[in-house]
Amino acid sequence: MSATIIDGKKVSKEIRETLKTETAEFIEKTGVIPGLAVVLVGNDPASAVYVRNKHRACEEIGFYSEVHELPEDTKEDDLLALLDRLNGDPKIHGILVQLPLPKQIDADKVIRKIKPEKDVDAFHPENVGRIMLGNYRFLPCTPAGVMALLDAYGIDPAGKDCVVIGRSNIVGKPQAFLLLERNATVTICHSRTADLSSHTKRSDIVVVAIGKPRFLKAEMVKPGAVVIDVGINRLPDGKLCGDADFEPISAFASAITPVPGGVGPMTITMLMKNTLTAAKAAVGT
Ligand code: NDP
Repeated sequence: MSATIIDGKKVSKEIRETLKTETAEFIEKTGVIPGLAVVLVGNDPASAVYVRNKHRACEEIGFYSEVHELPEDTKEDDLLALLDRLNGDPKIHGILVQLPLPKQIDADKVIRKIKPEKDVDAFHPENVGRIMLGNYRFLPCTPAGVMALLDAYGIDPAGKDCVVIGRSNIVGKPQAFLLLERNATVTICHSRTADLSSHTKRSDIVVVAIGKPRFLKAEMVKPGAVVIDVGINRLPDGKLCGDADFEPISAFASAITPVPGGVGPMTITMLMKNTLTAAKAAVGT
């Protein structure tokens, strides 16, 4: 058996086409252009690439977009003042501060500063709480992208044993909740899990999000399982690879996401979706 390769680029393109049409209709009906502000502090090259891609995606879909590039030594108060301004700007419906932030800035304070209605990353405690209660405004982009991929390939998590490896606030924890919401039985594993393999080997769906190249080995995966690889790791030769050992696993899994081209493209697409949702909510449609 050879696994179905879950094509994140293709699914992402299809969703973006739909968003483009919806955006044009929304603008025509309301005269409002959905607007996203992206804030980048410092010179992290990976962050700069992500920000550029987000700006490009906005242009492609027909959004208004602003990129605010601040120097590495930006004071926390100056960033908070910018966020105040963006919170009050009617052209802006979504605000995203690219993480990580330089060490003089408290990321938690920054996340709390963004008005929850404009928090298109869904990192604000109010939005996180809403997700736990199943009454969400936005879903966090990466886990939402994973769910959209499962849906696109007809993989229903209901009743399945799922394991999420990684428990970060931006990926692992919300991912586990979204799977739970869709009636999966979910186990969350992390760096202190004893005998990780015993969990992965009995799981129908394995989501790995730890940031360790090819960590998930073939012998840790049940034949016929679905493997969703969130990891993005840069190898010494400059190539990207995921957290799962793609080649051997794809020989016997039922479906697997490649890196690049799997979960990655979905994250920005979900950000675009959240921005349109925010604009719609702002004008009450
Ligand atoms: P974090 O570093 O915040 O969290 C990593 C998690 O992995 C932690 O919960 C940690 O456990 C766990 N972990 C680390 N080592 C092991 C191990 N040996 N065994 C089991 N668990 C382990 O990372 P993120 O969640 O932010 O990101 C994870 C990966 O996903 C990264 O490669 C990142 O680049 C990628 N990513 C991809 C995105 C995309 O768009 N595709 C978006 C966001 C992230 P503990 O809590 O115990 O320390």
